[in-house]
Amino acid sequence: MAQQNGNGVQNGQSGNENARPREPIVSPYMPKYPDPMSNVSNFKIIESTLREGEQFANAFFDTEKKVEIAKALDAIGVDYLELTSPAASEQSRHDCKVISNLGLKAKILTHVRCHMDDAKLAIDTGVDGLDVVIGTSSYLREFSHGKDMDYITAKAIEVISFIKSKGLEVRFSTEDSFRSDLVDLLSIYKAVDKIGVNRVGIADTVGCANPRQVYELVRTLRSVVSCDIECHFHNDTGCAIANAYAALEAGATHIDTSVLGIGERNGITPLGGLLARMYAADKKFVMDKYDLTKIREVENIVADSVEVTVPFNNYITGYCAFTHKAGIHAKAILNNPSTYEILNPQDFGMTRYVSIGHRLTGWNAVKNRFEQLNLGLTDEDAKAVTQKIKELADVRPLSLDDVDTLLRTYHQAKNEGVHTHFLDKIETPDHITQLAA
Ligand SMILES: [Zn+2]
Repeated sequence: MAQQNGNGVQNGQSGNENARPREPIVSPYMPKYPDPMSNVSNFKIIESTLREGEQFANAFFDTEKKVEIAKALDAIGVDYLELTSPAASEQSRHDCKVISNLGLKAKILTHVRCHMDDAKLAIDTGVDGLDVVIGTSSYLREFSHGKDMDYITAKAIEVISFIKSKGLEVRFSTEDSFRSDLVDLLSIYKAVDKIGVNRVGIADTVGCANPRQVYELVRTLRSVVSCDIECHFHNDTGCAIANAYAALEAGATHIDTSVLGIGERNGITPLGGLLARMYAADKKFVMDKYDLTKIREVENIVADSVEVTVPFNNYITGYCAFTHKAGIHAKAILNNPSTYEILNPQDFGMTRYVSIGHRLTGWNAVKNRFEQLNLGLTDEDAKAVTQKIKELADVRPLSLDDVDTLLRTYHQAKNEGVHTHFLDKIETPDHITQLAA
């Protein structure tokens, strides 16, 4: 997969990188005092590519692919892997067993309906825990399972007690929580908290919630239960990362993700995007806990497997995520990358590019390229060549090869003392190609 811009200058490995200390990310709008409710610096990731991700339109993971994805996610250091219910199919049941036996650091969960048969089947696969789910919204109660809240509560208590009696971790989640009655929600969460459930889950199954609604619901729930709180956000309206962040600020403890956000419809909170968001909030916590340089690998595995390309504007790994183009940005980036970067590409195993072969270029970036090519030229030279690049790039953008040819031949002309007229003779981008020939 092409990850680099054709007309860019690699800057991430340049020798002067270490000479420019990066300041910590400081915003005058950061809270002055730590918020004791917030878990922004203390959260866990439940990675659901092998459950939610299987619900993506193009997804079909055979056992070998599931194992490859599970190992790649474990290498990042995600806390949990969530797998498709063994009740879904015989192959799904087999795969739960295989992945539970890999000896990964991540705990293995499977996602089951609030049903004794499903729970029994799941426990026998050797997973560490069960994520139990049942719908509580009026839509689901009327159009899906047709059960009332008393029935749902009694069933939840029966299933949770059974799982706990087998010594497994158990989460209880409602489905479509943001269109469920608040009193119903809080009373069922209270009931399951009382019998010792490990986590309760809030799920924005339909992607309707916004960050403020999330904050309020999680904050309310936090005051009602003492167990952990897991949150699951769909991305139908583009709020999945922001909602996850708001949930953690309000006291949630676990966030569901999938690689590239794949899942039902347009999916859920993407793993890479969540890690970018959390890195910007607490770099040390994120870097100590997760290996961010492994994100690209798992994204490529999953993208290939489900036959999509990594989006151009993807968090961290999109081909332009660390490409700087405008001349004024390029100058500042070369002086101190923090000026226009809150994410240091090296922390993610990525490389910064300063794009120079276009009409918005600036002479500082061109001068930086001189230096990288080890051509002894002056600021005046850089300004003259930059003027020529702008003129030519009004016709079409130049490739990095074009720019390098121009710089090298200009340098040669200068050594021969003929550089004053050299630039005048180059009237079109194609002349550069001829120079190279
Ligand atoms: Zn979902």
